[in-house]
Amino acid sequence: MDAQRTLRRQISCVGIGLHSGNKVTLSLKPAAADFGIRFRRTDIGDHEVPATVHHLAGIQLATGLSRNEVSVETVEHLLAALTAAGIDNVLVELNSPEVPIMDGSAAPFIYLIQEAGVRRLPAARKYLKIVRPIAISRGDKRIALYPSDHFKVTYSISFDHPLLRHQSRTVRITEESFIEDIAPARTFTFLKDVELMRQNGLALGGSLENAIVLGETGILNNALRFEDEFVRHKILDAVGDLALVGYPVIGHLVAHRAGHALHTEFAAKILEEAHSWRLVEAPVDTMVPLPIGIKEAAAPRLAN
Ligand SMILES: [Zn+2]
Repeated sequence: MDAQRTLRRQISCVGIGLHSGNKVTLSLKPAAADFGIRFRRTDIGDHEVPATVHHLAGIQLATGLSRNEVSVETVEHLLAALTAAGIDNVLVELNSPEVPIMDGSAAPFIYLIQEAGVRRLPAARKYLKIVRPIAISRGDKRIALYPSDHFKVTYSISFDHPLLRHQSRTVRITEESFIEDIAPARTFTFLKDVELMRQNGLALGGSLENAIVLGETGILNNALRFEDEFVRHKILDAVGDLALVGYPVIGHLVAHRAGHALHTEFAAKILEEAHSWRLVEAPVDTMVPLPIGIKEAAAPRLAN
């Protein structure tokens, strides 16, 4: 049995919202077992929005949640950091509709979690273990989950751009691999789209400090953090969006050219297809069957 976990103490930071450009204070607060991950908007009457597919809002460029007309936007990088670090229960307070974009990756959130420390809670964690494949596709965009003993993600992207024509990567997601290989990968955008977003009042807080910007032939930033930083960031997004099922998933996620809209549609479909998974208290089956031929009667008698 794995124990549920929360943070050891409260921790806060300040950043800006990618779309509003406004300053945001984010606080992560310890919570009891089975509380889950919930957002609270302290600027409008402490309304709470649980981080589950039941509260998905319209998807534009990032993943948003809403409940009773109270919304929180751009939740995916924080959710990826929390779930990869095994934080099952936490209250996320915001004084603005947007989770701060920080540097466009999940690394600053990992830093916060590590600074706060982790505490085990006296309750079993439940995993959602995939036992039959689940898949959806929309045109050439595809996403699927297959049975596996571990949580793995295979992602592939292809764009008509010299720097990222085709990238593909498979990562078994553990706290260590996420911190090393995925969390530092930043979000990316195309220069030609930035102007359009600005005209629509979006990405007002966007800059080379919080996104990789792709021009016609290369990036406007100084350097990439990984040669394939783009596909690594897509894995980060998928881990964050999949967190909306409400349980850590045990299975192999395979995605091609997907995005937030397909990730979150898929998260909702997983919960609908209840015959394709079961809830278990350990990631790998720990029941070891007796070798064939050995009957219980042959087992050594235990001393009293
Ligand atoms: Zn992202």
